[in-house]
Formats: sequence, structure tokens, C-alpha cells
Amino acid sequence: MRTFPPVDRKALEAGLKRLKLRCLRETLDELNELALEEEPSYLDFIAYIVDQEVKAREETQRQKRLQAARFPFLRTLDGFDFRFQTSVRRQTILDLAHLDFIKRRENVVLLGPPGVGKTHLAVALGIEAVNAGFSVIFNTVHDLVDRLYKALADDTVTAAMNRILRHDLIILDELGYLELDTTGSDLLYQLVAKAYEKRSLIVTSNLDFGEWGELFDKPSTAAAVLDRLLHYAHVISLRGDSYRVRHRLAPPHAEGG
Ligand code: ADP
Ligand code: MG
Repeated sequence: MRTFPPVDRKALEAGLKRLKLRCLRETLDELNELALEEEPSYLDFIAYIVDQEVKAREETQRQKRLQAARFPFLRTLDGFDFRFQTSVRRQTILDLAHLDFIKRRENVVLLGPPGVGKTHLAVALGIEAVNAGFSVIFNTVHDLVDRLYKALADDTVTAAMNRILRHDLIILDELGYLELDTTGSDLLYQLVAKAYEKRSLIVTSNLDFGEWGELFDKPSTAAAVLDRLLHYAHVISLRGDSYRVRHRLAPPHAEGG
């Protein structure tokens, strides 16, 4: 029997399907033409198609992570105007974008009034993390507490919490727009405590730390949250005018801020 019988196209495609080599299956004819045209060595050709397949698969995974992160909008660092927002140094944000803070399980806290770019920067760093292969989840504090509240009702709070905590980077947006009752305070504290030294958080808030006491049911809970959150944290205080007002943009999502 010959080692290389003439190709059976159907069998080849079935084999590629079985091996889940989708990129190769979908670009067979192009690859064939490319090889005829450029006449690479056999090994170079194999290396090329393996590389194409790996890249395609990585892109699929990236897209999946991007979807799973549930960002409210897709804004990037490239789209952030550091000439408008001068209270943060470009270098500081670009340093964070190297993502060592995620490897070190450190946190980022973005403070400032509405419209100064807190959510934009949180999302942009989140997208950098997704691109680098980290899993990310974006939540407003309101949605998160809501979800945990519901989980509490059907006794699945541990599972709900673990679903959040399995991500490398957890973004908690808009802390401060909602006052938390005892249960809400406790749920949020538990999450921050469980993430401590294990996961990275990006928290955005319109309140200064001094005002967090009023947000939680009691000052001691606020202190406990701050203690965990700030032990390893990069705190960035944004100031200035609202970009939204200045540029008359529609609010990106209903809760504003
Ligand atoms: P915050 O979360 O601080 O309330 P956002 O990040 O939601 O503000 O910003 C409001 C809107 O303005 C968003 O559409 C955001 O992309 C845009 N924006 C804010 N600051 C800048 C900036 N410096 N450069 C570009 N766009 C910005
Ligand atoms: Mg915001």
C-alpha cells in the first residue's frame, strides 16, 4: 500500500473535523494554492499550518473571554484621551496595562466624580487582560449584590460567589451609588475577603475612602473592606470635568456614573 494515496477530500475533511482543526479545514484550498505558489519545504509548510491553526484557536478563545467578561462597552486605552484627562499620568495607566498587577494579585481602585473615565479605564484594562489570556468579569456593584441576594434566596450563594471568584480579574464598577444594607454589606465584604491575595479587583467609586463608611451598614464593615482592598492596591484619583458633558455623549448605561 502506498503511504500517500491520492487525497479523498471527504475523508480529509472528516478527519480535520474529528481533530477539530477548523482553520485548516476551512482554508484547505487557499493553503493548497499557497503551497503550489511558494513551494515551501514540507517542514516549513507544516509549521505554517500549525501556526495558523494555533492563532485561529487563540483568537476564538479571546473572543469567548471577551464575551464572557460582559463589558458594558468596549473602550480601549488607545481611545482614552490623556490630554483631556490630565489628573492621571499616561505612564501610570500604561504600566498597569502590562498587567503585572494581575500576576501579583494586586488591586486597582479608580476614584472620581461621574464622567471622568473610571469605567472607560476599568474596561480598557479589562480588555488588555482578556487579550493577554486572563479571564475577566465585569459587574456593577448593584448587579453583583443583586445577584448574590438572589443566590442567597435559593441557597446557592457559595456557588454564585465561586463563579465570580474563578476569574483572574474581577471588575466592580460604581461602588457608592447604592447604599448597602447589612446583608449587602456582608456579601460584598465576603467577596472582597475571598478575593484577597488570590484574585485582582478593579473597583471604581465616586466616593472618597472617607465616605465609604456611610455606604456600608456599619463603619467597621467599610474598614474591613478597605483593609483587604487597599493592602495591595494601586489607587488612582481622577479629577476634572465630565467627558460626557463636555462631549455631549449619551450615557453608556442606564445607571449613569
Ligand atoms: P465614569 O465611569 O468616570 O463616570 P466613563 O468612563 O463612563 O466615566 O466615561 C464617560 C464617557 O466618556 C464614556 O463614553 C467614556 O468612553 C468617555 N470618556 C471619559 N473620559 C475620557 C477620555 N479621557 N478620553 C476619551 N473618552 C473618555
Ligand atoms: Mg462609570
